[in-house]
Amino acid sequence: MTFITRFAPSPTGPLHLGHAYSAILAHDRARALNGTFLLRLDDIDQSRARPEWAAQILDDLTWLGLSWDGPVRRQSDHLADYRAALDTLAARGLTYPCRCTRRDIRDAASAPQEGAPHHGPDGLIYPGTCRGRTMAEAGPREAIRLDMEQALALCPDLPDLPDLVETGPAHAGRHRLDRSRMIQGIGDAVLARPDMGASYHLSVVVDDAAQDITHVIRGEDLFEASFLQIVLATLLGHRPPVYHHHALIRDAQGKRLAKRDDARAIATYRAEGATPEDIRRKVGL
Ligand code: GLU
Repeated sequence: MTFITRFAPSPTGPLHLGHAYSAILAHDRARALNGTFLLRLDDIDQSRARPEWAAQILDDLTWLGLSWDGPVRRQSDHLADYRAALDTLAARGLTYPCRCTRRDIRDAASAPQEGAPHHGPDGLIYPGTCRGRTMAEAGPREAIRLDMEQALALCPDLPDLPDLVETGPAHAGRHRLDRSRMIQGIGDAVLARPDMGASYHLSVVVDDAAQDITHVIRGEDLFEASFLQIVLATLLGHRPPVYHHHALIRDAQGKRLAKRDDARAIATYRAEGATPEDIRRKVGL
């Protein structure tokens, strides 16, 4: 079996225990299967990505004893590829420009006739205010959204794809995401923003295809995102990878670790004299 996986941190903060867990799982699986482990820096959000964080992440991974195959791929080197993918989706009539502010979306989503507002992988589900506008009307400072209903109409085989998803305990039994759930639970996702040529979802799908990724191993916080990424990959003519989701590392209060939680940063443990084995133990490996 060909096994190509990757670890794709965003260099917007320190590597913490949760990232280390994902990275170790993917790395060890690749090594055990004689596969390939790639490293990618998801630095598409240039307003938040910092070279210092990228350098620290690489240093922490090396200290953990992880080695990656080939050069590190940086998203910021591939903006033209994301643009081309966006153009492909636009040419298929699957996108529309959106000029709504966050506030517009909140107000429209909370209107009494909408019922309780729903949240998806990117926050509030977009209520569809700009749907129906054409790409020719796009202003320079507008986001581009995927028309999920149109997109799903072009993916007749989609109901089988979610079977590929392995879930952590929190999602056991939840892995059949049907069409209405995709529309209501994910909705018209943003594919590009004025300040970012491509959204996280679009760039990741392009990268995973470009790197021939066969398996993605990541936290269950990205569980819903995987379904969106499966749709995007399918629309772009790629075979989606198999997604494995692992349980999240939580703090003593059961709260998910955040980037800003420096106390759990690998660099902090290193400074306190921890060994790579201590880190493996801490994440339950
Ligand atoms: N860059 C993303 C993050 O750090 C993860 C990307 C992925 O695994 O698809 O949350």
